[in-house]
Formats: sequence, structure tokens, C-alpha cells
Amino acid sequence: IRGVAAIVGRPNVGKSTLFNRLLGERKSIVDDTPGVTRDRIYGDVEWLTQTFRLIDTGGIQLEDQDFGDEINMQVDIAIEEADVIIFLASAREGVTADDLAIARKLRKAGKPVVLAVNKADNEKLQMEVYDFYQLGLDDPITLSASHGIGIGDLLDRVMEKM
Ligand code: GDP
Ligand code: MG
Repeated sequence: IRGVAAIVGRPNVGKSTLFNRLLGERKSIVDDTPGVTRDRIYGDVEWLTQTFRLIDTGGIQLEDQDFGDEINMQVDIAIEEADVIIFLASAREGVTADDLAIARKLRKAGKPVVLAVNKADNEKLQMEVYDFYQLGLDDPITLSASHGIGIGDLLDRVMEKM
């Protein structure tokens, strides 16, 4: 294992979709046991000749936590556990207040961050990427996790920073 990467981002940006896409066949396990999150959150990703461990922090949940606390906890876990953090946002919503808060926290932590703007399914949405320079992080990568666009570029960038 070369290192650990963690995906962070607000709910619904496509973290689980990206996680499943990067893991290929080894899909997220969904189980409806009450109160227990059984989403698969760890997996090993092979890229070219290397392997790294991937964490989907969105699958780490505690009950009775409000939205903001939950994202905060997920980002803390990523900062603690990962060598490289994949910060996922969405071209459909653009930069939100939660994105700004996450970016602030990541800049402070000083860990390598790969900024990826998901749901950039077409050229018009890909143009939204320029908005994300205001986060003051790395140059954003455009992705479409559900269509499988930009995945190779993302993996190259993660490996570069690991
Ligand atoms: P998470 O909450 O961040 O884990 O997000 P999910 O992976 O559960 O995805 C939330 C929703 O966004 C689902 O309906 C996905 O199908 C959708 N989604 C994920 N990736 C893309 C994408 O690249 N393009 C579009 N249009 N939808 C996506
Ligand atoms: Mg998820």
C-alpha cells in the first residue's frame, strides 16, 4: 500500500458514487440494520502499478449529530487518517457555504488536497469549475463520477501527491 486517500465533501455531491467507481466491482454494502451504518467505507484501489487505500468519510456517521457537526467530524477523520484528501464538490450547485467551511479547514490542516468538482456531466457544467478557484486550494479537476469522466486525471493527481 502506497498510502491512504480520503474523500470528503458535503452530502449528495457523489462521494459514494466516486468511491464505488474507484473500487470497480467491489461495491458499497448497504444494510438496513437500524442505527448502524453499514456502508462500506474502506477499499483498496489499484492504479497503474500502485495500490492505495481509499476511505469514504461520508459513510462514517453518528446518530443525533446535526449536519454541520457531521461534516466537521468527517473532515477531522480525513485529516487524521489520510495522506491525501480528495475534496469533492458539485458543479451543479457551485460553491456553497459548506464548501467554503470545508476548504478553510483543509487549508489550515495543510495536508495535500485534490479538489474535484463532480457532476460536470457536460461542457456547460465543466465551465463551473472556475468558480472553485476561490476556495484557495489546488487547481480543480472536473469529474463525472456517474459517467466515468475524469477518473484517470483524478487518480494521477492523487498519486502525484501521495
Ligand atoms: P454522497 O452523499 O456524497 O455519497 O453522494 P452519492 O454518491 O450518494 O450521490 C448523490 C446523488 O448524486 C445520486 O443520485 C448520484 O447518482 C448522483 N451523482 C453522483 N455522481 C454524479 C455525476 O457525476 N453526475 C450526476 N448528474 N449525478 C451524480
Ligand atoms: Mg455517501
